[in-house]
Amino acid sequence: MRYSGFRVIKEALTGHRGWGPAWRDIDPKSSYDYIIIGGGGHGLATAYYLAKEFGKSRVAVLEKDWIGGGNVGRNTTIIRSNYLLDGNEPFYEFSLKLWEGLEQELNYNAMVSQRGILNLIHSDAQRDAFIRRGNAMILNGADAELLSTEQILKSYPFLNVDNARFPIMGGLAQHRGGTVRHDAVAWGYARGADQRGVDIIQNCEVTGFKIENGRCLGVDTTRGFIGAQKVGACVAGSSSRLMAKASMRLPIETHVLQAFVSEGIKPLLPGVITFGAGHFYCSQSDKGGLVFGGDIDGYNSYAQRGNLPVIEDVCEGGMAILPMLGRARLLRSWGGVMDMSMDGSPIIDRTHVDGLYFNGGWCYGGFKATPASGFAYAHLLATDTPHQTATAYRFDRFATGRMIDEKGMGNQPNLH
Ligand SMILES: Cc1cc2nc3c(=O)[nH]c(=O)nc-3n(C[C@H](O)[C@H](O)[C@H](O)COP(=O)(O)OP(=O)(O)OC[C@H]3O[C@@H](n4cnc5c(N)ncnc54)[C@H](O)[C@@H]3O)c2cc1C
Repeated sequence: MRYSGFRVIKEALTGHRGWGPAWRDIDPKSSYDYIIIGGGGHGLATAYYLAKEFGKSRVAVLEKDWIGGGNVGRNTTIIRSNYLLDGNEPFYEFSLKLWEGLEQELNYNAMVSQRGILNLIHSDAQRDAFIRRGNAMILNGADAELLSTEQILKSYPFLNVDNARFPIMGGLAQHRGGTVRHDAVAWGYARGADQRGVDIIQNCEVTGFKIENGRCLGVDTTRGFIGAQKVGACVAGSSSRLMAKASMRLPIETHVLQAFVSEGIKPLLPGVITFGAGHFYCSQSDKGGLVFGGDIDGYNSYAQRGNLPVIEDVCEGGMAILPMLGRARLLRSWGGVMDMSMDGSPIIDRTHVDGLYFNGGWCYGGFKATPASGFAYAHLLATDTPHQTATAYRFDRFATGRMIDEKGMGNQPNLH
């Protein structure tokens, strides 16, 4: 079923009896050519591109819970491609380009909104760093603009640029950045993959791998053994736990990140804004709520909930640039578990086991990567060669020392 304005009107006039399920609820077959473990954004996008771009059939996505219940439905919805390093920037710019055509491609309203992202500058050194990053972005074909305080005040007139504790000296803007309705991305990819014959199987947890003579032959699940030619792990915050079942120890730790939504208020923020003297980022949803976040909780955990000290810390960051935030009531907060890699960059690679592949290490920036990650992972699974934008995302960089340390924080995952 195609979605369209005409369809909405027709269904409205006929009692909404014509809508079908967006994807089939299906029992697993005994074997597949490709099994993707994890029905988050990345897993579903991988299955979609495997079918669409590489013509693969007999593909299944195995999800232990329900589609959209992981980080894909828990993030603060920000997309951008404002990275510095060569290993990263072309990949994230590829992703942003895929976002730009995604709704038409999927025939699904994912509310892709290129409302722009603005990183505020609070010191001379920060301005130098942001100019360098902006130049790297432009060299890689992305858009970047250095804004003066006068330019910023035109869009954000309430900012206190010169009399705040951390005066604002300018900002780096990426006008093509913005927000996307996160769970609609999962649903859109799930529907698109299902239409191309992919089996999406919920409530099916992978509990082990069948590995014989160095080759992965399939997976044990809560719904029985399922054979496969190739198995792609794609479980974000559960990566370490899952890959331990294949006797792998990953350069990844799992940490909790929280997100917050205020009550709905009148339009205030035209785009995404980030505070440069602390960790705070904020946008306003179409319903009027301020959607914001900050630092991770600072300890390892697989619990999808956070703690009060970080709520206080995030709100302090918010109050530093938006003091009026203190008058708004917090409606909701929640947490997600993220796969923090040791250099802050992801891994899309084969493993030492034939037929077993890995995608993870997205830290708290993997939502914006969803389309490119799916495309690149599908490329790797289908052709056994890395996609041209993901050649640096290999396991061996941690052995050879070719880290992609985007933030220069070293091997401290809690800081990335
Ligand atoms: C609060 C918060 C805010 C964030 N904000 C942003 C942001 O603004 N911008 C941005 O780019 N990124 C952001 N991120 C990061 C982003 O959400 C993640 O990096 C990205 O969603 C991870 O990929 P995914 O969608 O595939 O993960 P998930 O949706 O978590 O998918 C993984 C799936 O694997 C399943 N799974 C786990 N173990 C198994 C198993 N054994 N068998 C079967 N299935 C299994 C899980 O149930 C889950 O559904 C944020 C994250 C959080 C938590």
